[in-house]
Amino acid sequence: MSVALIETAREFKDLCAEARRDGPLGLVPTMGFLHVGHQSLIRFAAQRTSTVAVTIFVNPTQFGPNEDLARYPRDLSGDLKKCEEAGARYVFAPRNPEEIYPPGFQTYVDPGPLAAPLCGAHRPGHFRGVCTVVAKLFAMSRAEQAFFGEKDYQQLAVIRRMGRDLDFSTEVVGCPIVRETDGLAMSSRNAYLTPDERPRATALSLAIAAVQDGYASGVRGVASLEALARAQLERAQLRLDYAEIRTAQDLAVPGEANRESRIFLAAFLGKTRLIDNGPLVRAES
Ligand code: AMP
Repeated sequence: MSVALIETAREFKDLCAEARRDGPLGLVPTMGFLHVGHQSLIRFAAQRTSTVAVTIFVNPTQFGPNEDLARYPRDLSGDLKKCEEAGARYVFAPRNPEEIYPPGFQTYVDPGPLAAPLCGAHRPGHFRGVCTVVAKLFAMSRAEQAFFGEKDYQQLAVIRRMGRDLDFSTEVVGCPIVRETDGLAMSSRNAYLTPDERPRATALSLAIAAVQDGYASGVRGVASLEALARAQLERAQLRLDYAEIRTAQDLAVPGEANRESRIFLAAFLGKTRLIDNGPLVRAES
């Protein structure tokens, strides 16, 4: 069955209600310019629910004043093909931001301490915007399950917490990070990288590998492990935003690194901000 484009909130709500009569509805929220990572979320959703709705909305409330809202890449016709190929039934791409934020809109979702460190500290207001739009999409779709990538691990944690705290019936499902063959985590923002910059972007996954190697060889000090990550980023001349070891569950700073810790990275390559994260123990070991 081919994918249907929906451009208004009214139609999105109505079609979601209709779809839910046939079985569980899966929601995949995105900002578009889709890649294989997004498609893996859609495929994951299609295996678990009877109808998949993808949303494509470059959400202005989650961007800071000096960020890339205006130049964020867009390709609706390419996105529709990728959604169809991966098994989505509906694509909700609001024809203008007023479909999500109508005139007079003034109510926001204010996340708690999980949203404070890492990207929350470096992008003030970001998770407030994310939570607000995701809450709206949950309320509009009333999807049984919603699928989010571990690529944005903090976002997944914050949204999962929001779902519990605000009693949304939508179950939040986390999906693994999809990477390019050289290790770079797929991201719409990778399109910003110049041919010069692109090979240097592997520094993030190399930094994760360096931390995993350090942990495997017995290093447990948080500062020492973070220094291993920073060294990789510096070697490729990325500008560090943060490199922090945190607990996987609540994103707290552990006294000492352990199996439940993760390394979280954000760095600028030219004007492009890249993020990545990973466990301290490689999945296969
Ligand atoms: P975005 O369009 O960047 O807002 O991402 C939409 C969803 O796709 C989020 O849940 C992301 O975590 C997820 N996602 C983005 N890149 C990847 C990736 N490389 N692997 C898995 N999920 C991803």
